[in-house]
Amino acid sequence: MNIHLVEDKDKQTVDVLYFCSDFHCQEFLLQEDNQKKYGKYQGWYGCQELEFDDYCAYCEKKIKGVSGEGY
Ligand SMILES: [Zn+2]
Repeated sequence: MNIHLVEDKDKQTVDVLYFCSDFHCQEFLLQEDNQKKYGKYQGWYGCQELEFDDYCAYCEKKIKGVSGEGY
């Protein structure tokens, strides 16, 4: 998976987007509207564990969180 941090002009993280893969993160941010809204691709920031399940912002595939066991 890959995480994209959305920063404001003061480099404060204001939002976080999750992607099932680095590739989808790049694809998503290559779209001009998304890049304007969420900023440029910042490089790979993956190998993170999510506490809860989330969905890829690009393809909506489920990304499993570590507390999501047992169902
Ligand atoms: Zn995806």
